[in-house]
Amino acid sequence: KTSLVSPERRESDPDSSLRPLSLAEFVGQRAARANLQVFIEAARTRGDALDHVLFVGPPGLGKTTLAQIVARELGVNFRSTSGPVIAKAGDLAAQLTNLDERDVLFIDEIHRLNPAVEEILYPAMEDRQLDLVIGEGPAARSVKIDLPAFTLVGATTRAGLLTTPLRDRFGIPIRLEFYDTDELELIVKRGARVLGIGMSDEGANEIAKRSRGTPRIAGRLLRRVRDFALVDGVETVSRALADRSLRLLDVDPIGLDLMDRKYLMVIAQHYGGGPVGIETIAAALSEPRDALEEIIEPFLIQRGLLARTPRGRVLTSHAFRHLGLAEPKRDPS
Ligand code: ADP
Repeated sequence: KTSLVSPERRESDPDSSLRPLSLAEFVGQRAARANLQVFIEAARTRGDALDHVLFVGPPGLGKTTLAQIVARELGVNFRSTSGPVIAKAGDLAAQLTNLDERDVLFIDEIHRLNPAVEEILYPAMEDRQLDLVIGEGPAARSVKIDLPAFTLVGATTRAGLLTTPLRDRFGIPIRLEFYDTDELELIVKRGARVLGIGMSDEGANEIAKRSRGTPRIAGRLLRRVRDFALVDGVETVSRALADRSLRLLDVDPIGLDLMDRKYLMVIAQHYGGGPVGIETIAAALSEPRDALEEIIEPFLIQRGLLARTPRGRVLTSHAFRHLGLAEPKRDPS
């Protein structure tokens, strides 16, 4: 299922061209930036590698971007890989032995490392050592290889997905938060400048409001609106143009797509606003329960449209207002 407003990276996402290159250019995430600034400064002053950094947060909030910025501000190389890509311990060993002093090795989706690979990461992070077993059976022997001082930057969507020993080896854990509309507006305006599009404040606001707190989605919507502007031959994106384009793409004023609205409608119209069990909703929509719980519901809950209760899912008054439906009288218990 491809939705314009899903936060996962896609092949077609022009992520790299819109990436800010310095902490100063990076919008939002004030606490994260302030922390990084201090630790980077200290590492530079000591002439040592930065402590290992773990970025935790939903897709599309800037984990990869910040990892690149960290390397750039440290003045070191940025090497990048991801958990599922490193199949064998030897693959990771090769990456680690190729690093220069103080380099940044970025591992996206670090919670998806296989356990054998994770094992060799522990001594590498802690003692800058590789413990490798060479050969098999009685001829097997273990060798220790010294590694350069390096910084591991890991990214994951939830800290709870990591094993405790791995999580404990990151000296600098940083949580990224959803962006507010003002911040997304700045990101949209900056993106428009980079792409050479004229953007009014109101147009940027209209795109920002629909971006679900997520810069990657903002960038994607911006590109689609640009297409409409090109076709219409207008130079500056107005609120009306942004609104019309995004409505045509089925992204509503608060960033819900068709599936989100279908989900809400089923509960509103067939189950009186709930409570209704997730299995029932899944059957009514012919969607797997996991997809609803992992993809659809988190955003609806975060926006205060939906509540999970012990008796099932319940729509809030806000959801009825958003759908333009009258709220049924419900037992307040
Ligand atoms: P993640 O690694 O968390 O999935 P990325 O770092 O790949 O997210 O960011 C997704 C997109 O959003 C990129 O195009 C990036 O340039 C943009 N982006 C993320 N955070 C910001 C920000 N604070 N300011 C501007 N653009 C951002």
